[in-house]
Amino acid sequence: MEEAPRILTRPPTREELWTRAESLAWRLSAELGMPVRLSVTDNRSTMVSFRRGSTVLALRLHHMFLDAPEPVVRAVADYAGRGHRTAGAILDEYIRGQQPRIRQMRRESDADLNPRGRCFDLQELYDATNREFFQDLIQARIGWGRMPPRRRRKSIRLGVYDHQTREIRIHPTLDSPEVPSFFVEFIVFHEMLHQLFPSTGRGGRRVHHPRAFRERERTFPHYAAALRWERENLGMLLRG
Ligand SMILES: [Zn+2]
Repeated sequence: MEEAPRILTRPPTREELWTRAESLAWRLSAELGMPVRLSVTDNRSTMVSFRRGSTVLALRLHHMFLDAPEPVVRAVADYAGRGHRTAGAILDEYIRGQQPRIRQMRRESDADLNPRGRCFDLQELYDATNREFFQDLIQARIGWGRMPPRRRRKSIRLGVYDHQTREIRIHPTLDSPEVPSFFVEFIVFHEMLHQLFPSTGRGGRRVHHPRAFRERERTFPHYAAALRWERENLGMLLRG
């Protein structure tokens, strides 16, 4: 089976949603001659809902509408802005046509990034860490990485954060009863810090862990214990 390019099937990042939502709101405002306050949702049941005020149209749309062709955008304006019930049929048809794509997107993103391990639930660790250390401000998805083929390793990357997709992946060798939870927490904490403190510099002079990053990292309550545990168990981690 040919694999679809990841870029087409992954859920859009918040920045992408934001830019596309702004341009859609602008098009709708122009079409209707009134300001449109647009919220984009991932709601599974309601795809279009709206409240028409006297000076502004408050509109909630599923993100599938961000890529909608011109006639569908016009139908949204007719339906929500002008109260033309008949435009609803065009929207229904568009929504039905998008279903396979939406299902596919959910399936892939769920299958691709599974936070539930045998020993640790990364989502739980992430949520607790976000609440305790980041005031819930970090926005990322987290899951276990794939187990790489067994071979002798000289080094191991225990976690990775992707700025583009805002995904954190944790090395599956950590999903083991021999690994203490404070250590997994530390790795999760470290990857979350990458969102807060992006690398600086460019090219070969890139600094992946700027000074502010390292300072914040040291505030982790089990910082010293985590480093010591890593040092003492590196052999086991490398053997996987
Ligand atoms: Zn790092």
